[in-house]
Amino acid sequence: MAPAATITDRGHSVSDLSFDRLPLPTEQLDNLESLGYREMTAIQAASLPLALAGRDLIAQAKTGSGKTAAFALPLLDRINPRDFGAQALILCPTRELATQVAAEIRRLARYRQNIKVVVLCGGQSIGPQIGSLEHGAHIVVGTPGRILDHLRKKTLSLARVNTLVLDEADRMLEMGFIDDITHIIGHTPDARQTLLFSATYPEDILALSARFQREPETVTVESLH
Ligand code: ADP
Ligand code: MG
Repeated sequence: MAPAATITDRGHSVSDLSFDRLPLPTEQLDNLESLGYREMTAIQAASLPLALAGRDLIAQAKTGSGKTAAFALPLLDRINPRDFGAQALILCPTRELATQVAAEIRRLARYRQNIKVVVLCGGQSIGPQIGSLEHGAHIVVGTPGRILDHLRKKTLSLARVNTLVLDEADRMLEMGFIDDITHIIGHTPDARQTLLFSATYPEDILALSARFQREPETVTVESLH
């Protein structure tokens, strides 16, 4: 059966997978179009309505399925550029992944002015990172070890974080980051949205969720193999 199509006030036909179905600003819809994002991927279609409504999520889908936009669009929506200090924190297992996530967030943030994304990872000198933080960072993307270093040095505050993302949570657990993650989350407000993304769904992901999420909704996109 063909998906129901309707005509929106933007004047074109909208399928079930159109971003136009979401409560996103027109400027973001135009930005997505210019990025060539014509339809939501399956995990985006399953997660975005819930995440945009503020729900905690456990989202599971294989690599390459578009998980970054599934958490980036909701958190971008809430960033106040006039409020200095981190409002969103994304924890990633490696520097390479953190750099990719930051690049994707910057693309998705092109329609907003003055939103600063800072990457905090190990293997890089800490001085320039402290300099960036002093100028104000709205979104922080980083690896647990280095985020913890900044918390200990008091060069980063998470007191204003409203969205926490655990990206590739299964890999972070495999790499032994559980204690660092626990410590970091202790620095964030209780009244936050916590989004947990993972390619697999082992037992310890459930345990992590039970500790740090509030009535999470689980969305799973099965891979076809
Ligand atoms: P994952 O985190 O699930 O591995 P990514 O978020 O890194 O996947 O996305 C994989 C690639 O797909 C990226 O290059 C991203 O820009 C692209 N992408 C994401 N969503 C869409 C979409 N709706 N339409 C087209 N390309 C997309
Ligand atoms: Mg990813």
